[in-house]
Amino acid sequence: MAGEPQDDCLFCKIVEGHVPATIVRETETTVAFRDINPQAPTHVLVIPKAHYKDAAALATAEPALAADVLREAQAVADDDKLESYRIVFNTGAGAGQTVWHAHAHVLGGRGMQWPPG
Ligand code: 5GP
Repeated sequence: MAGEPQDDCLFCKIVEGHVPATIVRETETTVAFRDINPQAPTHVLVIPKAHYKDAAALATAEPALAADVLREAQAVADDDKLESYRIVFNTGAGAGQTVWHAHAHVLGGRGMQWPPG
């Protein structure tokens, strides 16, 4: 069923506490934790607790939950007092998605280039 935990999903395991992570925020519907391979001084991943394979599937099935993820991404930026930052949803392998559970990257604390690589 849509949104159900998947046995083979790393981020579902983090939600369930079966894989450790440095959690910085948690709500009824979302978890935010530090990326294991940070690309900036702040690099936090915000995920819905429900399993959707990417941002597109999440937004289509549960737009209110997608809004929760975005609100929490903003809260991470506020917590770390970031003046400028990037919120990124890599969607699809060609865009660099490697974990198939929707997640927002919140990146900040250093200067950034545009366009991204
Ligand atoms: P993607 O490439 O799918 O957009 O982002 C996946 C992110 O998950 C990567 O930035 C990667 O460093 C991070 N990641 C992969 N495995 C783990 C893990 O076990 N723990 C944490 N905290 N982050 C992970």
